[in-house]
Amino acid sequence: MKKLLAAAAIGTAGIMPAQAEGIEIRANGSTPAAIGTAENFTGQAVISALYPPTEITRASTGLVNFAPGARTVWHSHPAGQLLIVTAGQGWVQEEGKDKRTINPGDVVWIPVGIKHWHGATDTSPMAHIALSYMQDGKNVDWLEPVSDEQYR
Ligand code: MN
Repeated sequence: MKKLLAAAAIGTAGIMPAQAEGIEIRANGSTPAAIGTAENFTGQAVISALYPPTEITRASTGLVNFAPGARTVWHSHPAGQLLIVTAGQGWVQEEGKDKRTINPGDVVWIPVGIKHWHGATDTSPMAHIALSYMQDGKNVDWLEPVSDEQYR
């Protein structure tokens, strides 16, 4: 019942009130994973929602598993994004700069409004936890796909 109320309270702003009812543990796998849509990802990306934004964290938190060759489309974040790489090896690229390699344990801060993409390398899968901060009810602005030429 509490969870239903919390879910209903997310509302149009996408922000859940910060509850003060004690420690909450969301067991691994308790939220369904989803395949990233072709509009937002090239190749296969599996997204597991971990925790919704609250009034305090203001970040939507999820785990993304990219197959080799998979990546986001170009996009930006209206309030920034923190990536924590947990497995494999990946690439991240900011528009106008060279792509950079990221490895498990690396922490990547994407500032507000920076056009970029992230994903696996062409030969390795990659997983990262993403904290995507909310601004006016959204946390991402999706743009055009990363071409194979840009990706390689
Ligand atoms: Mn991003």
